[in-house]
Amino acid sequence: MTDVVVVGAGIVGLAAAYEVSRLGYGVTVVDAGHQGRATDAGAGIVNPLDLVGEQSAAERERVALSGATYYRELLARLADDGETDHGYATVGQLVVATDDAEDGVLEALLARLSGSLPASLADYLGPVRRLTVGEAAGMVPYLSDGIRGALLLPGIARVDGQKLAVCLASALRKRGADVRHGVGELVTVAGEVVAVEVDGERIDTGRVIDASGAWAAARWPRLLGDGVTPVRGQIVHLSYPREGIATTPVVSNVGGPYILAFDPDRIVTGATHERVGFDYRVTAGGQADVLTTALRVAPGLADATMLETRVGFRPVSRDALPIVGAVPGLAGAVLATGLGAHGLTLGPAVGAIAARIAVGQDPGHDLTALRPDRFASPN
Ligand SMILES: Cc1cc2nc3c(=O)[nH]c(=O)nc-3n(C[C@H](O)[C@H](O)[C@H](O)COP(=O)(O)OP(=O)(O)OC[C@H]3O[C@@H](n4cnc5c(N)ncnc54)[C@H](O)[C@@H]3O)c2cc1C
Repeated sequence: MTDVVVVGAGIVGLAAAYEVSRLGYGVTVVDAGHQGRATDAGAGIVNPLDLVGEQSAAERERVALSGATYYRELLARLADDGETDHGYATVGQLVVATDDAEDGVLEALLARLSGSLPASLADYLGPVRRLTVGEAAGMVPYLSDGIRGALLLPGIARVDGQKLAVCLASALRKRGADVRHGVGELVTVAGEVVAVEVDGERIDTGRVIDASGAWAAARWPRLLGDGVTPVRGQIVHLSYPREGIATTPVVSNVGGPYILAFDPDRIVTGATHERVGFDYRVTAGGQADVLTTALRVAPGLADATMLETRVGFRPVSRDALPIVGAVPGLAGAVLATGLGAHGLTLGPAVGAIAARIAVGQDPGHDLTALRPDRFASPN
């Protein structure tokens, strides 16, 4: 008998299991190892801002904010467990404009961010400011000299999703958790979870967290309907060996690519957004799109060495909000998915929320807007 079984070992499931363990409960994590785990392909920008746009709901803001700021807590705990190789660093983000229209967008963004912001957001972002084109070029050696303007968000961090997942799994094992390979299927009796079956073996439990990302949609057809869709992202990794390159700010363009740098010399740029189901392929068109948009903003990367192209399936919800909460009508089941393009920012916080719900603790947030049955068909 295990207190809690977590199905899915992406960022959400691993963070959930880690919190379950920290709260003093036994936990088993099961992962099917499907190709296209989003956590491995995620670029890694930890930025709540695109979630707190002018049209955003208050809930969206709160979850986004807790997602970015929760990292401090999580990384401190992982350090206590001896896990520090996660690729998280505060490198800042440089948003660049390539023409006057885009520069107008930067100006509007600066005005918004200079206005009254929630204290935790202002603290996370740091002092946002305009840079001259020369200053921007001094920070990013591969940047186009044709850019029109740049805005620096100095507090933005980036993380290596794949490395963070390794850290979390390793910390879980050190704490005595069972992290295993296999396809998990819920076993229910009379409206209650009683076990998870993993490739024929039964793990008895009264509590399950389903964190199976884009694959969750197929397991909950009535609950989720067409509310969660896999959106394929192809993302290119390059080698660009230069002194100190890993601390280069994230570069993003209003209408185009983002470019991140990691130790020791890895550049990551993307990505495509394609609704093609679970079609795990690198396509000629996808590769061409990513490289063409990247080189428009960062022509200095033209001579970088191609390392790999990763493919991941973002679990995108219909209203672009996460899905987290108890499954109505099935005692003991908690669902946590739908983090879309923001799961590396929000995943640790959403996982921790799911963990607290699973063990009967106060999740610490009003989750009404995120409830799992909001896409359910009426009959
Ligand atoms: C190209 C790309 C770029 C991105 N960039 C960013 C970014 O810069 N910033 C950001 O915040 N987010 C980003 N994201 C989004 C982020 O990566 C995802 O939202 C996040 O990783 C989703 O995590 P997850 O744990 O829900 O799902 P996943 O990481 O997909 O994990 C789900 C796991 O469940 C397992 N599973 C499924 N079914 C079962 C089953 N029956 N039994 C056992 N296991 C099962 C799968 O094998 C998989 O390992 C990006 C995503 C992509 C693809």
